[in-house]
Amino acid sequence: MDQFIKARNVTFEYIRRDDDGNVEGIETALDKVDLDVKAGDFIAILGANGSGKSTLAKHINALLTPESGYLIVDGKDTHNKDHTLAIRQTAGMVFQNPDNQIIASIVEEDVGFGPENIGVPTDEIWTRVEKSLRSVGMYHYRHHSPNRLSGGQKQRVAIAGVMAMKPKCIILDEPTAMLDPIGRQEVLSAVRELNKKNGITVILITHYMEETIHANRIFVMESGKVIMQGKPREIFSRVEELKDHHLAVPQVTELAWELKQSGLSLPDGILTKEELISELCRLS
Ligand code: ADP
Ligand code: MG
Repeated sequence: MDQFIKARNVTFEYIRRDDDGNVEGIETALDKVDLDVKAGDFIAILGANGSGKSTLAKHINALLTPESGYLIVDGKDTHNKDHTLAIRQTAGMVFQNPDNQIIASIVEEDVGFGPENIGVPTDEIWTRVEKSLRSVGMYHYRHHSPNRLSGGQKQRVAIAGVMAMKPKCIILDEPTAMLDPIGRQEVLSAVRELNKKNGITVILITHYMEETIHANRIFVMESGKVIMQGKPREIFSRVEELKDHHLAVPQVTELAWELKQSGLSLPDGILTKEELISELCRLS
């Protein structure tokens, strides 16, 4: 499949200034980051607070551009200002707080807002709105007020709003951080469907390890660097290394790891309850 995102040596610094404009400090938020994502991939980015995840997400969307190094999205260099709009349309962003992303007072109007803003013809807007709302399981709520929806439903409306722009990729920056477990599940299933059925490339930034087990690839960040990358099973086989970096593993992986420490002969990198159960049955 095609290379969709290619980042090489991407470095970015935030410069903090005092009220007089003097430089107070420099924060290296991205430090020589390389990233390769193929079209149709589902990528997860993990890392502690302040490790540079959001800064990287903003680079993929061309909200920020590298100070050194370069980043290509769908064949376009984010440094080239002529491509900025096209890149933003290609790679839509979903943020943490659904309340900050919903503008209109009726769901379908909210989803149609983006396409309307870029001059999509009315008929086409309605086609897109219907399709987008169906794709996240929210069509039934099209005449509702977003205020009345649960967090998970609001976040799915926000995703539909991005889908209505016909992106090839969606970048979700901790989209489930403010949701309850049911909302998290709803949003994650919707995102997985978009990836599987519509072939949308997904970049999911999350604190919840469980949300990453279906990803094609996980990138772990620390202090602006990608410190680990691999398939979920590879990453979560490295429990001690993750713990050294103050990162957790999925609960089931942790349990299996502890059972292994206490002498049970289990493989590394167990990711689901079902896998653990079948491994335990094999032992007895
Ligand atoms: P994450 O999303 O992983 O929490 P961020 O990309 O938000 O990490 O931040 C990376 C680093 O850059 C942190 O040290 C953070 O304090 C700093 N940073 C982020 N945004 C700004 C900003 N607008 N101004 C100055 N420093 C910032
Ligand atoms: Mg962040």
